[in-house]
Amino acid sequence: MTDDPITLPERVPERDDYYLALAFAAARRANCRGRKVGAILVKADRVIATGYNGTPEGLPNCLDGGCLRCADRSRFASGTDYDLCICVHAESNALLTAGRFGASTDGTTVYTTDQPCFSCSKELIQAGVVKVYYARTWAPDPRVLDDYHRLQERLMAEHVPTEYQITGVH
Ligand SMILES: [Zn+2]
Ligand SMILES: [Zn+2]
Repeated sequence: MTDDPITLPERVPERDDYYLALAFAAARRANCRGRKVGAILVKADRVIATGYNGTPEGLPNCLDGGCLRCADRSRFASGTDYDLCICVHAESNALLTAGRFGASTDGTTVYTTDQPCFSCSKELIQAGVVKVYYARTWAPDPRVLDDYHRLQERLMAEHVPTEYQITGVH
């Protein structure tokens, strides 16, 4: 099949690869002018919630101009002013979905397409996430590098290059 959006490896995937592939599948639903990100919340080897980035429910989509920070990046330095962005990040959306529908996030593992940002990292720790795997790296704000690394250590954040590549996710 030439139009198969997912390039599958020939062997049965390892668990990490499987969950990261699901994260990339979630990222395809992202509605944000920024990088398309997907996240999967796993507990006892089961997916309990998924998330992708975009504007909050009921508000105009980011791709339709719903977020000023995303629409006019020239006014905001890359990696800064996340508090001025109304798009909800994938990891945050996964946590909020779990909370909304009553699934405990304590002791969960997160698989995400991208290294978590400063803000999501704080939230993941407070939600009881014990491990994070991510496929793509990201450069944090150098002014808060030490704090950022402390958050990543607490989450045992680990870079896992995945062999899955899904078209339309960048
Ligand atoms: Zn956006
Ligand atoms: Zn984030």
